[in-house]
Amino acid sequence: MVFEIDCRLGHQRITLYQMTSRAPYLNSRMQGFGTTIFAQMSALAHRHNAINLGQGFPDVDGPIEIAEAAINAIRDGYNQYPPGQGIAELRTAIASHQAHYYDLNYDFETQVLVTAGATEAIAASLLAICEVGDEVIVFEPFYDSYAAAIALSGAKLVPVQLSKPNWEFDPEYLRRVVTPRTRALILNSPHNPTGKVFSYNELEQIAGLCVEYDLIAITDEVYEHLIFEGSHYPLANFENMQDRCISISSAAKTFSFTGWKIGWITASTKLIEAVKTVKQFLTYANGAPFQVAIAYALNEPARFCERIAPSLAESRNELSLGLEKLHFSAMKSDGTYFVTTDISDIYSGTALEFCMELPERVGVVAIPSSVFYQTPNQGEKLVRWTFCKRIDVITEALARLSKL
Ligand code: PMP
Ligand code: GLN
Repeated sequence: MVFEIDCRLGHQRITLYQMTSRAPYLNSRMQGFGTTIFAQMSALAHRHNAINLGQGFPDVDGPIEIAEAAINAIRDGYNQYPPGQGIAELRTAIASHQAHYYDLNYDFETQVLVTAGATEAIAASLLAICEVGDEVIVFEPFYDSYAAAIALSGAKLVPVQLSKPNWEFDPEYLRRVVTPRTRALILNSPHNPTGKVFSYNELEQIAGLCVEYDLIAITDEVYEHLIFEGSHYPLANFENMQDRCISISSAAKTFSFTGWKIGWITASTKLIEAVKTVKQFLTYANGAPFQVAIAYALNEPARFCERIAPSLAESRNELSLGLEKLHFSAMKSDGTYFVTTDISDIYSGTALEFCMELPERVGVVAIPSSVFYQTPNQGEKLVRWTFCKRIDVITEALARLSKL
């Protein structure tokens, strides 16, 4: 198999390390989007039998009771298409979750939509609300599917930088990038890849801007329960925001079942109508028995939603402190699965070169953060590591890294 590093700037973002650099049948909107970095780095981990601190998936499955609820649902006959909007038990459980944790009220009949993971929710939302040529503001660095989904919709991604080490944005700059074509803003908090949890004050500024310029806010809240410092404040909670927010979450991270792909949206009836129109032609519906199991999991909030953060905080400490000791400069991670390090003190090349060498040199995989930037030459010294792994796996990874 021929591998090559392809750092060409694609249509919207940098494509790295593709199996082939040409995609003759691919439409112009998607040219430059290669195989995702997560798939590529997991393939490298497999090839070198390396510890995978790249792609964010836990190495311990979620609670057995939830898995058994899915198995029972299969036995009980939840094996045909569920309703396109999602089964009523799950929509009711999602509405109760929003009311319980955030005091946000949604009608489960008209204001909740179940999706094939947050990934489909994000894509369907953008495809639903954007016209060709619209602009979508995104805080940079950003999760990779945003650029692809924006490109598919024919809109243009407008980045607003989060500056390290605290990942703050310049509110004046944010205001300056708004134009008459700005349709939406994507907010991801807790934030992948940085681990930033946006503060109340920052969210208030973002909400104010959305109201002032009549923007739709697409909020990616998949890490809402994976917070170690601070609190999660949904943007929909701010004044005049609930009706302009498409609030997205997912069972993947909260319950440690990333392969089940059960996500959801809560939004106003009009926004749900728009997104549902697109969603029905993407997947129509998915995961009937998993929907039953996630309804069960959400209906037991104290037992399951709140279980993940304490154990993950331990893993975060273990990895962050371990990396610090090895002279990787680790930045504070207040939430998510991820910690970012600056490798300037230990490596003269780029993070991409570092991450490509690492599996073969010491048997560890990490993600070069440059893939999360559209702006050229950004994140070149930054590496993202995931700590959603067993402590003994993290310890072994650190032991291997100490041989560098
Ligand atoms: N948004 C962010 C920020 C993510 O990190 C991920 C990866 N889980 C997703 C969305 C996709 O979520 P899902 O697996 O539910 O599609
Ligand atoms: N969200 C995961 C991460 O950031 C990756 C999910 C995927 O591979 N699509 O690592």
